[in-house]
Amino acid sequence: MQSPRLFSSCRINYLPTAVEYARIKADPEKYEQYLLREATRQRNRYWQNPEFRRRTKEKSRLRKVGYRNTREPYARRTVLYNWVFRYTWFRDLPWKSHRPLLYNQGIKHTCSSCGMSRNNGSKLWWTDPGTFTCHTCYTKASWDEVMPEGYGDCRTIADVIARRAQLGGSPP
Ligand SMILES: [Zn+2]
Repeated sequence: MQSPRLFSSCRINYLPTAVEYARIKADPEKYEQYLLREATRQRNRYWQNPEFRRRTKEKSRLRKVGYRNTREPYARRTVLYNWVFRYTWFRDLPWKSHRPLLYNQGIKHTCSSCGMSRNNGSKLWWTDPGTFTCHTCYTKASWDEVMPEGYGDCRTIADVIARRAQLGGSPP
């Protein structure tokens, strides 16, 4: 009797390489099996791993409120940029280490963190004061560090507006 090929059933978290994947995809039957296996794997992971479950729920919540890309720090960089540009009151919140400086045209500063100064300048800088940090470097820190005092757990502008009301700010 041929010995069973156990390796494929043991490697629960095994993902195919690009070459293997191309081979699977070329065969409709294999591809269907693969999709079923993947769906089962994801479902098991969802129900067996509380952290994965939490992340999945959070991602779907963020997609609903307009995050195109939920990967941090990219998501943080994009939403903060939008909020600073759109909402004057947002710029005036109690910032921690740096506050946003918004120009109506691209301005060249040297970033105190990465040392770069973009060729066309940048409309948004973060100031210490006295030093300038580019938006990319500033938003690399955690949400808690980059958000204003009391707003560390806010992820959407609705969260921010609700917190502002809680903290006694007048409605924007
Ligand atoms: Zn920088």
